[in-house]
Amino acid sequence: MVAHRWAIHSPVARPWHSLIAQQHAPTVRLYGRGMEFDTCADCGRALDAHDRHIKFALPDPVLDAGQIDAADMWLSGPDAKSSTLMQVQNVGAFVRALLPVTLTDDHVVTYGVWIAIDPAEFGRVFDVWWKPEYQDLALDGYLGNSVQPWGLLGSPVSIAVRDPESIPYCTQSSANQLQSVIADTWNHDLVLAAYWGN
Ligand SMILES: [Zn+2]
Repeated sequence: MVAHRWAIHSPVARPWHSLIAQQHAPTVRLYGRGMEFDTCADCGRALDAHDRHIKFALPDPVLDAGQIDAADMWLSGPDAKSSTLMQVQNVGAFVRALLPVTLTDDHVVTYGVWIAIDPAEFGRVFDVWWKPEYQDLALDGYLGNSVQPWGLLGSPVSIAVRDPESIPYCTQSSANQLQSVIADTWNHDLVLAAYWGN
């Protein structure tokens, strides 16, 4: 019995709750032509096509800024995709974080997002980023990417280090929708369709 996994924490029904999983769709094995396929009964995708990762190369405000002079952009790595810290003159300071979302049938999709932080805190973050003190790092910021199918760009979010070998995780949000994305179980067909097709 896994009914507890489908609990919806918010007591108030909102339009976006239609995306939250309401029921368990069991998986089945389909047999044909002597071969065995593990196929999802809910959406028809191969079962191994469910636990996806997507990594946003740039924060949306940086993309929206258009052409940026190289001298105005500081990256922690050789390029944006491999960087975990970014500061762009007149745009903002950004930290990478993971946003894992629990999907029906025990799947998890993980979004590698940028979090906009207070530029005044960037020095403090930089100072500990590659040091043992990193494990105690916790920050408040705003989601720097639009994450489909919800949107969520600009939602306030707290991030914290859970694993010293990993970038921080989104832990909670004072915005109801992002908090629901963090804490609830979502219909995997609807979530996967946003980036990975049907
Ligand atoms: Zn499925």
